[in-house]
Amino acid sequence: MCFGVPMLSVQPKGKQKGCAGCNRKIKDRYLLKALDKYWHEDCLKCACCDCRLGEVGSTLYTKANLILCRRDYLRLFGTTGNCAACSKLIPAFEMVMRARDNVYHLDCFACQLCNQRFCVGDKFFLKNNMILCQMDYEEGQLNGSFETQVQ
Ligand SMILES: [Zn+2]
Ligand SMILES: [Zn+2]
Ligand SMILES: [Zn+2]
Ligand SMILES: [Zn+2]
Repeated sequence: MCFGVPMLSVQPKGKQKGCAGCNRKIKDRYLLKALDKYWHEDCLKCACCDCRLGEVGSTLYTKANLILCRRDYLRLFGTTGNCAACSKLIPAFEMVMRARDNVYHLDCFACQLCNQRFCVGDKFFLKNNMILCQMDYEEGQLNGSFETQVQ
């Protein structure tokens, strides 16, 4: 789903338009048209970081009556991807663990054999797309229970 709304930089024609941000007349040489309204270039700002949206791109994002830049929109409403352990979506604002190309919920990032959680600095292994603690990994190596993966 995408909530991108195009912004147009237009030259005012005819009657002066009122700005949807500050309600004053727009006397500038250029104004922005977005969401069927007209704005001063200074007035169309991201509700989060206050950046001038006309400067960062030609698209703004809107949700729940907020006008946002792409970065903040993705941070607040986007998703990081699917958790490789439970395969549920991970919202973009949530902390995640990453291992190679996989992302995990913090809660899901545990050895998939013994459920041991990892602390910062702990070694973990990725084998056949399973997260393993060092002990289980080494045990698996000894028993030869892992297929050798050709990377
Ligand atoms: Zn204005
Ligand atoms: Zn922003
Ligand atoms: Zn998960
Ligand atoms: Zn384990």
